[in-house]
Amino acid sequence: MSENIEKLKQGYAKERPADLFRAFSENYRWENVPFLPYKEEGTAPFKAISRQVLFQNPELRCELRYFEVAPGGYSTLERHQHTHGVMILRGAADVLLGNQVRPVKTHDLVNIPPMTWHQFRTKGNEPMGFLCMVNVDRDRPQLPTEEDLLLLRSSDPAVAAFLSVY
Ligand code: MN
Repeated sequence: MSENIEKLKQGYAKERPADLFRAFSENYRWENVPFLPYKEEGTAPFKAISRQVLFQNPELRCELRYFEVAPGGYSTLERHQHTHGVMILRGAADVLLGNQVRPVKTHDLVNIPPMTWHQFRTKGNEPMGFLCMVNVDRDRPQLPTEEDLLLLRSSDPAVAAFLSVY
């Protein structure tokens, strides 16, 4: 049994009835869901992101989180062995996924395979919010080296343009 799942099970021993139903409230917040600045302890580069963990159930073996990126913000450029299933809930962004850059908008789906570089950058004046499904038990994200960035930039002009602000 992984350490992460053990920790979660201990947390769920204290489960409150209120956790069974949690109402959506204004501005993409949910009842009894803590609103957290993203990776407050980390050193990875990101900008203007908040995180809310909507489901964190050891029986599911996955978590569903809601991230929101303020206008002009972006997620960390990273890769890892674990995968993400993403649905855009509000706003628009450009997404770097492997060697391609694609525009995404509300209700689009993005599948992020293992060891694939990924980053979201907002577009427009609206916040960009997305649901992200992820394994409970997961490896630590890797950040790009200078060499990785060079390789990415040389893969496609659109990728180079995307990374020019990095
Ligand atoms: Mn990731």
